[in-house]
Amino acid sequence: MQRTGELSSRLEQVRERIARAAEAAQRDAQSVQLVVVTKFFPVDDLRRLIELGVTDIAENKDQEAGAKIAELTEDERARVTAHFVGQLQSNKAGHVASYADVVQSIDRAKIVRALANGAQRHGRTLEVMLQVDLDGSQAGRGGAAPDQIEELAELVTASPHLNLRGLMAVAPRDADPDDAFERLAGLSQALRVDHPSATSMSAGMSGDLETAIRHGATHVRIGTAVLGARPTA
Ligand SMILES: *Cc1c(COP(=O)(O)O)cnc(C)c1O
Repeated sequence: MQRTGELSSRLEQVRERIARAAEAAQRDAQSVQLVVVTKFFPVDDLRRLIELGVTDIAENKDQEAGAKIAELTEDERARVTAHFVGQLQSNKAGHVASYADVVQSIDRAKIVRALANGAQRHGRTLEVMLQVDLDGSQAGRGGAAPDQIEELAELVTASPHLNLRGLMAVAPRDADPDDAFERLAGLSQALRVDHPSATSMSAGMSGDLETAIRHGATHVRIGTAVLGARPTA
């Protein structure tokens, strides 16, 4: 009960931050989807969040994600869109395709093929975003170089069972998120010339959601600000 109250008030604060940032950017707050990143937290927290009206959750590790999502009841599962935002290995991608609804972290051709095969095998269709490495320094965090985006987009578009929705990025660690998200917005605009359905831009985390919304983010991925500090195991 106490945990539910805690999550409820933090959720309220994050929703207010989103609303204020949207207003400042003269955008409709409804155009920004809150995705709560539940990695490291138990499935009971997912249940509480769903009960509190959260419609979109994200995980970043296949094993943890698959196990937690499998624990949800049919009703809980039906009420939530499951995003995958972690680095993908091609031997795991087929399994991710069995439970994820949206895969935000595609960054190479091999992953596109593995996801498309997995989706076909499981009789599913996935919404996908391409993860961009905004400054070439994302060692260990994934992302395709900006000049590879168009080619990956073509490959996704040519894949049955995958729908291209847009781009995702994590702001570079020691750089100004303002510059990074401005660049992402430019890449997003360029992508939409040939791929008009790729309207999603997933950017912004607990520390920089306002900056992301100012640059047009349609999805913010929030962990700490809702769930609290992650165990640093
Ligand atoms: C963990 C994670 C987040 C959430 O980060 P917070 O700073 O806790 O809000 C967002 N995006 C990705 C890809 C993550 O792995």
